[in-house]
Amino acid sequence: MRIDLHTHSDVSDGTTSPAQVVADAAQAGLDVVALTDHDTTAGWDEAERAAADVGIGLIRGIEVSCTYLGRSVHLLVYLPDPTYPPLVEALQRVLDGRDQRTPRILAALREAGIDLDEADVARESRSAAAVGRPHIADALVRRGVVADRDEAFDRYLSAGRPGYIQRYAVPLEEMLAIVAGAGGVAVLAHPWGRYGGSVLDADALAALAGQGLAGLEVDHQDHDPRRRASLRRIAGDLGLVVTGSSDYHGTGKSGHDLGCNTTDPAELERLLALAAESARRAGRRTPEVWIPRIPR
Ligand SMILES: [Zn+2]
Ligand SMILES: [Zn+2]
Repeated sequence: MRIDLHTHSDVSDGTTSPAQVVADAAQAGLDVVALTDHDTTAGWDEAERAAADVGIGLIRGIEVSCTYLGRSVHLLVYLPDPTYPPLVEALQRVLDGRDQRTPRILAALREAGIDLDEADVARESRSAAAVGRPHIADALVRRGVVADRDEAFDRYLSAGRPGYIQRYAVPLEEMLAIVAGAGGVAVLAHPWGRYGGSVLDADALAALAGQGLAGLEVDHQDHDPRRRASLRRIAGDLGLVVTGSSDYHGTGKSGHDLGCNTTDPAELERLLALAAESARRAGRRTPEVWIPRIPR
C-alpha cells in the first residue's frame, strides 16, 4: 500500500487539475493520495469524484501558510470541517494577503528593472484560487529573465531578494487551535526544509506537540538522510505521527514526482484515528475516508 500525503493542483501552484493529480496518482501506483493545495479547499470536490472514479483513497487536506517566531512555516491540515467559520476566515485572510501582495512584488521588480505586469502573471495563474509567487516566477521564466522557478526564487522572489514582499500568514499556535476546533489534524510540512528550518528545533517541536500538533512530515525531498533520521527520532520521542510525501507540483517543481516519498500505512491509520478523535471532541463530522485494503 503506497500513500502520498502532500500534493498540489492548479487551484494553487501545481500545474494540473485536481482530477488529473488524482488520476496521475493512481497511474503512479499510489493507493491513497492527499490533495493539499495552499490555503484552499477549492479542489476537494473535483478530487473526490476523480478518486471514486479511479478507485484510490483521497485524504482532504490544506497546506496552510503560517508564521512561527517570525519565520514562514507550512502546516498540513487534514480532514478539517471546511465550513468551520474560524478556518474559513483564516484561509480568506491568507488568500486576500496574497492577492494584495502581487502588485507590490511587481512594483518591487520594476524598481529592479524588470517590467512585468499583472496580465503576464494572470496568464500563468489560470484557475488558481489565488495568485502567488510561483505564478510570478513562471512569468519571469516565460519572459526569459530566468531559466526556471528555482532561479526566479533564488534571484528575485525569496526573502532578502529584490522582489520579496512579506505577506500575511496565520500564527502557527492560532492555526493549531483552529484545526482542533475544526475537528482536523495538523502535521508540520517539511519542518527542516527551506521554510521554518532554523526555528523548529527539538524544543520548539516539543512545545508544538503540546499544543496539538499531530505529526511531522519527515520524508520530504528537502530533508537529507541525516535530517530524516533526527526528525524521526524526535517524532518517536514526542509520540508524533511520521509522514512522507512528494509535495508534488506537476511540472512546477522538479524532483517531486508522485510517490517519491510515502507514508507508512500504520502511520496513516494513527493519523486517521487522531482525526476521528479530534472531530468527536470538536463536535464536527470527520469526512469519510475510503481507504483501499488498509492492512490490519
Ligand atoms: Zn510547503
Ligand atoms: Zn507543498
